[in-house]
Amino acid sequence: MTQQVLILPGDGIGPEITAEAVKVLEALKISDGLDIHMTEDLVGGAAYDAHGLPLSDETMAQAQAADAILLGAVGGYKWESLDISVRPEKGLLRLRSEMKLFANLRPAFLYPQLADASTLKPEVVAGLDILIVRELTGGIYFGQPRGIRVLDNGERQGFNTYVYSESEIKRIAHVAFKAAMKRNKKLTSVDKANVLEVTELWREVVDTVAKEYPEVEVKHMYVDNAAMQLILNPKQFDVMVTGNMFGDILSDEASMLTGSIGMLASASLDENNKGMYEPSHGSAPDIAGKNLANPLATILSAAMMLRYTLGHEELAVKIENAVSKVLDQGLRTGDIYSEGMTKVGCREMGDAVVAAL
Ligand code: NAD
Repeated sequence: MTQQVLILPGDGIGPEITAEAVKVLEALKISDGLDIHMTEDLVGGAAYDAHGLPLSDETMAQAQAADAILLGAVGGYKWESLDISVRPEKGLLRLRSEMKLFANLRPAFLYPQLADASTLKPEVVAGLDILIVRELTGGIYFGQPRGIRVLDNGERQGFNTYVYSESEIKRIAHVAFKAAMKRNKKLTSVDKANVLEVTELWREVVDTVAKEYPEVEVKHMYVDNAAMQLILNPKQFDVMVTGNMFGDILSDEASMLTGSIGMLASASLDENNKGMYEPSHGSAPDIAGKNLANPLATILSAAMMLRYTLGHEELAVKIENAVSKVLDQGLRTGDIYSEGMTKVGCREMGDAVVAAL
């Protein structure tokens, strides 16, 4: 049956980079019989300009009906002074929460051709290939009660609640183990079980789920050590799984190991592997509309969509190999450019990936 893909280009460079990813998917429809139907709609500032909301109910319904969503980015100077309730980012948050996208997958993958882009020594990062699985809809960012209260002595006190139920830990652990099974079968679960009871439970539940995946080698690591090990010896990691806050921090740290924001894809999945795919970067309003953006993070997000939601591992690999090929050819957008390479624009990069398929 034809799978439905909703394209939400968004703002800034969003329309430029998603157009290149669509080009790649269109090429696969012709060359490999990829059976998808793509429709496009508005999100973020673009949706606000058209409907007065960063995501209309109609678009939300379309998103719910689709098998997968490919999103560009949202936000920009033009909408910064809007009331917080209608800011572009609210469109994204609504999609994530109403679609119950609890699993955030962020690969930190460094193409060997770009090892010089990292601030770490090339020998430390060359060949880096980590997948961080972050729980996205629970933990301390959502736990109740929360707030700022006034104590009897008149002093103000801020408080949040770090909470995870067994079922929440179980479902994210399954996502991580399944991902590990598709990769090198090594999983590091990150917690702070020496101090926080909630992560003591996390550790226990991960060990229980591990029994269902005997092929996966499981390690537990305290978050402070994990932050250190990511800089010291990042290549020791395959898949890392952790809660919302630790994942927020560690995934940014890991992505920066690669030094190239324009290369990093991401996926947010629900219980049935239905998901939203987007580059890790923002809408880059400083370079929007100038054919300067790097479309590879979005193209690689489309590859993740084929792998995790649409069930076409072979086509995902085909896209990733094509990206590697254009890098071998020396083609670089401005953000990953280094001397001796050939500087190209967003469209030319997309064309080169299509040609390399
Ligand atoms: P940003 O990621 O948009 O840009 C940071 C820097 O990286 C800029 O110099 C930009 O030109 C560059 N850059 C980013 N993506 C690039 C690409 N594909 N190719 C080449 N260069 C690229 O972050 P920011 O400047 O902090 O935020 C800009 C806007 O994006 C804000 O409105 C912010 O709220 C929004 N934002 C959206 C998302 C999202 O949609 N998921 C995420 C982060 C920020």
